[in-house]
Amino acid sequence: MDDKLMLMIPGPTPVPERVLSALAKHPIGHRSGDFSKIMAQVIADLKWLHQTQNDVLILTASGTGAMEAGIINFLSSGDRVLVGCNGKFGERWADLCDTFGLRTERITASWGQPLDPDAFRRALEADTQKQIKAVVITHSETSTGVLNDLETINRYVKDHGEALIIVDAVTSLGATNVPVDEWGLDVVGSGSQKGFMIPPGLGFVCVSAKAWKAYETAKLPRFYLDLGKYRKDAAKNTTPFTPPVNLIFALQAALEMMKAEGLDQIFGRHLRLRNAARAAIEALGVPLLVRDAAAASPAITAVEPGHVDSEKVRSVLRQKYDIAMAGGQDHFKGKIFRIGHLGFVSDRDILSAIAALESVLQDLEYPNLPVGAGVTAAAKVIMQW
Ligand SMILES: *Cc1c(COP(=O)(O)O)cnc(C)c1O
Repeated sequence: MDDKLMLMIPGPTPVPERVLSALAKHPIGHRSGDFSKIMAQVIADLKWLHQTQNDVLILTASGTGAMEAGIINFLSSGDRVLVGCNGKFGERWADLCDTFGLRTERITASWGQPLDPDAFRRALEADTQKQIKAVVITHSETSTGVLNDLETINRYVKDHGEALIIVDAVTSLGATNVPVDEWGLDVVGSGSQKGFMIPPGLGFVCVSAKAWKAYETAKLPRFYLDLGKYRKDAAKNTTPFTPPVNLIFALQAALEMMKAEGLDQIFGRHLRLRNAARAAIEALGVPLLVRDAAAASPAITAVEPGHVDSEKVRSVLRQKYDIAMAGGQDHFKGKIFRIGHLGFVSDRDILSAIAALESVLQDLEYPNLPVGAGVTAAAKVIMQW
């Protein structure tokens, strides 16, 4: 039953009916007063979601476009940047910095391990000449399900004083606390198909006053992604280029749903889903990729089934139960599968997914599988919450 497809991947994530209906409306002129009213509301609501007074700019781009904008607008060729690399996305930002001629220094940890904040502290403390202009951190590393310790790393960036903190919050925003103003995060990038509960196509960049100061002297070329243009037009509740009008309708509806649920409730729900998924996998005796719960992303749980091919698990889940889970990327392909629990995901969804997974592992003759233990453990987390 393809119409019953259940997306348990970390993006695109499931879209609520109310948001789908908003998408289906006839587009309106993006220079109209009606559209400006919607823009005013979504800009205010985006600030609420980011817990900030800073600008939050809306781009027609995926999350990578938002991150590219968030990097190139504030730096010049030859600038020294530290990039945290412990998965696919961190490596992408380092490659992006290389492409633009920045002096990129990778601070690495193996895939599945969190970044070591002390490695950042050492590099920043050693930089007495204040040559490091930015530190780029992927908060929730979606390729492995690691949640990096942004709060601590950011504290070292603040002690350095000069460097900007540029954050990939694509799968942490709307899933866990990212208090932009409280922590003083300079640039925060995200994308619509993740915690926002809307289809792919919009990127968001949140920019601090300190970053705008760097913008004035930054020399990397920029045109479509020149954030100054977006800032100027956002002040008039418009955009410099034609926005995907229907995605803005969807964004308006999704932000209204998020406000009705409340930030603490949203974060609590993601934590519960993560804890339920982890408890279930542990009860089944199947290894979790991220052993330490403190470093586990609230958006995604990676499982390393060892005895069985993870691609086989995924294909049987898809065929028998119409559930899509994500595979491993690069050298993790075939080794892990990833359960997405980001955005419009409920307790019932996680119970269904765990029950189906147990059935598939049983079918694939996973050794010594205590059938039923996963659902029992997940249900316990949910009912005792
Ligand atoms: C999805 C994702 C992105 C953006 O990827 P796009 O395909 O460009 O939307 C960036 N970082 C992380 C951590 C992601 O999960």
